[in-house]
Amino acid sequence: MTDCGCEQARRDLEEYLRDEVCRTQASDIRQHLETCESCRDEALVNRTLTDVLARACAETAPEQLKLMVIARLRAAQASHSA
Ligand SMILES: [Zn+2]
Repeated sequence: MTDCGCEQARRDLEEYLRDEVCRTQASDIRQHLETCESCRDEALVNRTLTDVLARACAETAPEQLKLMVIARLRAAQASHSA
């Protein structure tokens, strides 16, 4: 059994949850999550956060977000040219 350890599991957790790790790495992490309760909790929290954020982004009025970004950009440009 090759347990990748908490350190590596947590480092790769985000990419693992986004399905961005290779298959070998993913199975290492999955195996670790099965045996390590604290990393499993961490994974659950991360996954929930990712879901909530994705939903919030989909539901937020894009117009308001766009105006906010434009305002930030203008402020940044103003401070650079000053
Ligand atoms: Zn762990």
